Amino acid sequence: MELGLTKNIGDFSNICGYEREKRVMEVAASGMHPLVFCGLPDDNIHTLMSMFYTILPDNKIQNSLSIPDLEDGLEYETFLDYKKPCPCGNLGGDSNSCTCSLEEVKAFYKNYIKGDLIFFPNFKDKEKEGVLNESSQTLRSRIEKCWEIQASRFHGTEIKFNAQMGIEDIKKYCVLDDEGKSFLNKKRDRCKMSGAEYYTIIRIARTISDMEGVDLINLCSVVEALGYRSRW
Ligand SMILES: [Zn+2]
Repeated sequence: MELGLTKNIGDFSNICGYEREKRVMEVAASGMHPLVFCGLPDDNIHTLMSMFYTILPDNKIQNSLSIPDLEDGLEYETFLDYKKPCPCGNLGGDSNSCTCSLEEVKAFYKNYIKGDLIFFPNFKDKEKEGVLNESSQTLRSRIEKCWEIQASRFHGTEIKFNAQMGIEDIKKYCVLDDEGKSFLNKKRDRCKMSGAEYYTIIRIARTISDMEGVDLINLCSVVEALGYRSRW
């Protein structure tokens, strides 16, 4: 599939709607979580992806946090990706033309998706009227605050961003409140979630709570993080 990840001098405010896509890109940039969009080809999402760098905090901060080769197109491709939604590529299309069985789709995701975040475009939600289209600058300011929280959390360690935390770091830096913990544990048992998946959810929830400026990871952050993983 054509990725269209060449840089685009544009601004997030030029794309109307797509609020959930913009939100997941903000989450990804805030904790530097790799992001994989899954869905039918969509020019606006490709355009947003090509403008990803416009929401990253300024060069000064980029350099101080030394993000390796983020200017390099190859890095963009590994960080941000776009996959077809199912083996035949038609899932979610208008005409119900997907020929895959549920088992095939499940197997597809198990083997295919490796990123921290997965997002399915919501086909009903694209052109909502009256939504404030935030500028890249607005997002960048919020992301900058989130990067500062992480810089102070990980001061004196090798880690720069939440996405880089291993299990021991997660145990140290990610405390869930009672509601969030009990919800996630129930979900883990019910869905037979793997340990890796469990900790991935916590890493993402850590970032979402950081975006709210709260130290204790809450239920809302856990629910949102779960929403960015496969629906199966
Ligand atoms: Zn299909």
